[in-house]
Amino acid sequence: MPDAALAAPAPGIVDGFAGAVGNTPLIRLRKASEATGCEILGKAEFMNPGGSVKDRAALGIIEAAERAGKLTPGKPSIIVEGTAGNTGIGITLAANARGYRSVIVVPETQSREKLDFLRMIGADLRLVAPKPYADPGNYVHVSRRLAEELGAVHANQFDNLANAAAHEATTGPEIWAQTEGRVDAFTCSCGTGGTLAGIARALKARKGDVRIVLADPLGSALYNWVKTGTVKASEGNSITEGIGQAARVPGNLEGALIDDAEMVPDAEALEQVFSLQMEEGISVGGSAGLNVAAAIRVARKLGPGHRVVTILSDGAARYQSKLFNPEFLRGKGLPVPPWLA
Ligand code: PMP
Repeated sequence: MPDAALAAPAPGIVDGFAGAVGNTPLIRLRKASEATGCEILGKAEFMNPGGSVKDRAALGIIEAAERAGKLTPGKPSIIVEGTAGNTGIGITLAANARGYRSVIVVPETQSREKLDFLRMIGADLRLVAPKPYADPGNYVHVSRRLAEELGAVHANQFDNLANAAAHEATTGPEIWAQTEGRVDAFTCSCGTGGTLAGIARALKARKGDVRIVLADPLGSALYNWVKTGTVKASEGNSITEGIGQAARVPGNLEGALIDDAEMVPDAEALEQVFSLQMEEGISVGGSAGLNVAAAIRVARKLGPGHRVVTILSDGAARYQSKLFNPEFLRGKGLPVPPWLA
């Protein structure tokens, strides 16, 4: 048996931030696979240079703006984005690499770690109170107005189709190549929907009957949208960040090739976060835990012998002050894992 680290060739030398985005490992998740008799695989998006799946969208959006002549590498320009944090991190790092500046609008309720990281990498960070999409103070609207006032480029990840296109061009084909086309189902949660829609398009183009399942936290309307066609928020709420939509279907998700949906409560997502970290050495954030929980549900419905792929969107260190904070967990009525109690 070769050493696991030597079994697959490394991608070789790449150029800078852009070159380091993508080509992430596809990790076999032992416990989830054993529990279902299926093979459950997680795409290690936390290994991107900015630490999340959103590096791909950020880079895709910036490169599309360059192709359209809205940005020119080395020529000072400003990119404005409204984000739960991860897209802002990707945009800021890509901007730093190309001589642009970033202005990043984030709801103040997002994890301290993401906000600190954004400040650390030089983003001009603008915190706003959390408001529903219908309110003009919602971070997405604030970022759009700010871009207009500054004469800057608005990255606009929710409705800019360069987002899903980046996943259609990279994440989807990588999954196809890594599984050598043996993939029965794919599931992940949606913020903008770029990851799900782009991967769904890439996989369905190669295998029409691959099953695409949207994973949704409580309080989001996307589960009901897939199941009934009506955009109606479900009961409850979630401590996960960057996923779920309470009131609308973003442009990137409209028309996505989706077969089914799963709604996953936080306790079930956190069980996966803790188990992956403590029993498999894979340290991921809340949306990744929710994705794995959804993959387990999908696998159980398919029955043993199938292969289900999902996304490990970002790492646990980004949520130390929340998901790994006993006081925070108790306050939300969630179980505190024994090694933290
Ligand atoms: N997980 C995390 C941690 C995220 O930050 C995001 C993006 N906000 C997502 C999942 C969802 O990705 P997408 O926007 O492609 O739907």
